[in-house]
Amino acid sequence: MDARAPGLAAGYPASMRRLCEAFSRMPGVGRRTAERLTYYVLRASSDEAAELAAAIQAVKQSVGYCSVCHNVTETDPCEICADPRRDHATVCVVEEPKDVIAIEAGGEYRGVYHVLLGRLSPLEGVEAEDLTLDALSQRVRSGQVREIVIATSPNLEGDGTALYIHRQLAPLGVKVTRISRDVPSGSSLEHSSPSIINDAILGRREM
Ligand SMILES: [Zn+2]
Repeated sequence: MDARAPGLAAGYPASMRRLCEAFSRMPGVGRRTAERLTYYVLRASSDEAAELAAAIQAVKQSVGYCSVCHNVTETDPCEICADPRRDHATVCVVEEPKDVIAIEAGGEYRGVYHVLLGRLSPLEGVEAEDLTLDALSQRVRSGQVREIVIATSPNLEGDGTALYIHRQLAPLGVKVTRISRDVPSGSSLEHSSPSIINDAILGRREM
């Protein structure tokens, strides 16, 4: 049996195979899990199945990306970009929306964000144009930004992304800082405690 085969064998009803294939396209879901999820839906009550379908549709209909910071949001601009109490001259650059949630949990940072939606990865073919780097440059060129705080992952790709951003933005006259490396090397913000994240932001240094 090929564990990488996309779904159920040809003898199953077409609708079950369709659902199984849809599950198997999800990240981290192998064939076995896709089969289990398909059987879960089959056994679920009509209400449970309808709720699952409605929840998927609701995310697609009501959640989008903030046109300013590219975080996930149900309003545009997002709540953070729309908050006049935040320091809009300080922009923290993170890889993913989950990093915003981790830094917000720390409670120390009062600036705004820019979500790259990934990081530069030559091995995985992720290049500058795949990220929201142009939009970040435009924010800086608008003249409203005083400091860029780079909080990409403390690993090779996160460092490479930070260097690229520094090279791109420093000539525009903006201060570019990097959060301190007290976040354990190789680990991500989301797995760091709020106090470690606060310390990393407070201990940021100019690149
Ligand atoms: Zn926003």
